[in-house]
Amino acid sequence: MSNLTPMMKQYKEIKEKYKDSILFFRLGDFYEMFFDDAIIASKELEIALTQRDAGGNEKAPMCGVPYHVSEVYVSKLVEKGYKVAICEQLEDPSIAKGIVKRDVIKVVTPGTITDMNVLDEKSNNFLVSIYFDNLGVGLSYVDSSTGEMYTTENLGTTNDLYDYVLDELGKIFPTEIICNEKFAENKKVMNIIENRINPYITIYDSDLTSNIDWTIKITNHFNVNSTKNLGLTGRMYSILSTGKLLDYLYDTQKDSLKHISNLEFYNSAEYMIIDINTRTNLEIHETIMNREKKGSLIWILDKTSTAMGGRLLKKWLEQPLLNIKEIVKRQQIVELFVNDIITMDKVKDCLRKIYDLERLISKISYGNCNARDLYSLKISLDRLPELKELLIQSKNEIFIELGMKIDSLSDICELIENSIVDNPPISVKEGNLIKEGYNEELDDLKKANIEGKQWLANLESKEIQKTGIKNLKIGFNKKSGYYFEVTKSNFDLVPNYFIRKQTLTNSERYYTNELKEIELQILGAEEKMIEMEYNIFQDVRLKVKAQTNRIQRLSKQIAKIDVLNSLAQVAYKNNYVKPKLNNRGIIEIIEGRHPVIEETLSDSVFVPNDTLLDNKDSLLQIITGPNMAGKSTYMRQVAIITLMAQIGSFVPAKEANIGIVDRIFTRIGASDNLSQGESTFMVEMHEVANIMKNASKNSLIILDEVGRGTSTYDGLSIAWAIIEHIATNIKAKTLFATHYHELTELEDKLEGIKNLTILVEEKGDEVIFLRKIIEGSTNKSYGIEVAKLAGIDEKITNRANEILFQIEQNRKLTNSNKKSQSNHQFDFIDYKKNYFLDKINKLNIQKITPIEAINILYELTEEASKLKERTQNE
Ligand code: ADP
Ligand code: MG
Repeated sequence: MSNLTPMMKQYKEIKEKYKDSILFFRLGDFYEMFFDDAIIASKELEIALTQRDAGGNEKAPMCGVPYHVSEVYVSKLVEKGYKVAICEQLEDPSIAKGIVKRDVIKVVTPGTITDMNVLDEKSNNFLVSIYFDNLGVGLSYVDSSTGEMYTTENLGTTNDLYDYVLDELGKIFPTEIICNEKFAENKKVMNIIENRINPYITIYDSDLTSNIDWTIKITNHFNVNSTKNLGLTGRMYSILSTGKLLDYLYDTQKDSLKHISNLEFYNSAEYMIIDINTRTNLEIHETIMNREKKGSLIWILDKTSTAMGGRLLKKWLEQPLLNIKEIVKRQQIVELFVNDIITMDKVKDCLRKIYDLERLISKISYGNCNARDLYSLKISLDRLPELKELLIQSKNEIFIELGMKIDSLSDICELIENSIVDNPPISVKEGNLIKEGYNEELDDLKKANIEGKQWLANLESKEIQKTGIKNLKIGFNKKSGYYFEVTKSNFDLVPNYFIRKQTLTNSERYYTNELKEIELQILGAEEKMIEMEYNIFQDVRLKVKAQTNRIQRLSKQIAKIDVLNSLAQVAYKNNYVKPKLNNRGIIEIIEGRHPVIEETLSDSVFVPNDTLLDNKDSLLQIITGPNMAGKSTYMRQVAIITLMAQIGSFVPAKEANIGIVDRIFTRIGASDNLSQGESTFMVEMHEVANIMKNASKNSLIILDEVGRGTSTYDGLSIAWAIIEHIATNIKAKTLFATHYHELTELEDKLEGIKNLTILVEEKGDEVIFLRKIIEGSTNKSYGIEVAKLAGIDEKITNRANEILFQIEQNRKLTNSNKKSQSNHQFDFIDYKKNYFLDKINKLNIQKITPIEAINILYELTEEASKLKERTQNE
């Protein structure tokens, strides 16, 4: 180190403090990276890796990016999961004595990015802070791009707390997490977080744990007298996680945090809880198969017109309500729109022209905005009077109230309208930002500038006459200023008061004293003008910034109107109905449909089905039926309709009366979690354990083929016991689809259990799916028929039918001979039967490739012929 050049020494000192970040080190017009940072960045950014003398004999690997385009590169690295520390020159290099002072002014992290070019406009970008100990946990999170900040806390046993955090994280889906060491100790939970959410995680145990008064930190930032004003009385864990979050923000963002001016405490018990598995299984935000938005619930529901509306809809889907009054308030507005589609469409058209106000005001508040952002804000605000008018003239009380609440911010609108030109340039340092008539001094300067230009024109024609050089022209460039240009053929006409400035191949450039004088005036005025425009722009920005709270409040109102309007659009277009709501635990749906499947079916119509679940006779329904009949669809449909009802949406049904549900649990399909190092069955049992532990009598449970991951009798026994437990102890409304026909016996054994089945019609050896749910049960799986439908060769399916027949014969044989058979023989047949059932049951026809199918069938026929041989021999 001692041999390092002074600059490298400075670099290493700064880098030491930002070890986990890539350091962008400002050198003149470039940000340079050195050593390992350079190696990583050159690869990730695809830029050239060079090197530089570091002093002594050391060579430092180096790469760099021009400072004026650095934002793109920073965003790229952050998107790839790195943190970037921006180190600036803190003094003017031309006047600095010795080495220029430098320091980090900001650390850009995945959770604090504000660049609108890389953020998904309809998603929040959350940074979560977790403070955890054995008694409780606090969770606080912020979106720096919108200025929202929330906090919540929970007390309980360690395991419950971890479950709680996972549920919350599944909802928040942060891009970055800071947590204390204690929380990170649980490797299993950390693993789940990494696998399911994949945020950037920092263990952040600042040395301030004990003595720093977090409360002061919080009250200072939010500018309140006490944490009471923020609803944090007695919320020790929330105070800790919020304090840490602020600490980290100040550490990384330094001081541009003014727009984060509100902290909202919420209690997650006020909302329906949907754990992360259920969220995935119900395909709320993306499909399981391709992880695409297309085919998910939000794909159907999101017809919002603004970015903040899109984000709010997401939030509503993450936190369905429990309070009927609150839900009804939303329903009422949706209904008003549905009943007045002209207003509905007009409001939508109006909203469409409104930009992302939340992110705009954050940018304006941050200071990294340009005149175009102010102009975008103005264009958005221009729509408000119209929106207000639309709602107010509707003559409906609720609409009028909604309209009256809108602050149309005419003062801000006027300010920008009067000061900023239409369609201003991106740069704020080249003038042309400010409208004429806004500032007298600026206008005078501009006039002088225009006059100067006129003088130039006059001077030009005067000199043409005087010298007789017909093509004499006054030109300008940044480096040498104004000049007369004389072409070769006229050199002999140049008078002696022309002073030579520059010689080109075909011409010469001159100036005169008079030209010089005008130049001084013009350039001086121009420089002054640009500076003045910039200052006026900053002044307008600060005036707008002072109204941040009002604009944030307005964004919230716009977002809400947008979401309700979107729900109405969807309800109208898809023919949904307003559900009734009850607290009596009854879920009654007449002609319910699955909102996504009904949209995606191309060559058939969706068959609606009825549902009746209650706390007594119809508590738990066991659904048997062939593969592909529609069991899973039906169960998800019930869950999704319930969820939609509780966010205030209309639902796809003819009629519905939904009993408020505190949680929805699902265990659907055998999705393979081998990537997490656990077998499918283990994962399945994990999820079931979670359900058994957390479900209440107000929950809705969807269990789809639970027990399939193990051998038949194991699985059957587990499923049996689970049903018994739910029906007698938990008493949660439950739908249970299964292949274990034996489970249908439970209907007669326990109260509250009902058997349902899905109708199919057999025509010859074909099956036709009727998709109609009826009371009753079936014991046929039609697996081979489905295989045939899926396109497996008839030779193979015929053979499979033969095998099935043999197995059934064998079963009859073993059953009738059970007592007389030797143990050995019995065990073998039984073992084989298990083998076949298992193989066939585990087939996932939708996911399987033809090759895989043939391999499995080949294996089955091999085993079958072995079995045949063996039974014939014996
Ligand atoms: P199962 O769980 O019984 O094997 P699924 O619920 O997965 O069957 O349904 C299989 C397919 O059948 C679905 O992907 C859908 O295309 C179609 N389907 C299901 N229910 C219906 C319905 N009610 N009306 C029309 N098509 C349906
Ligand atoms: Mg299914």
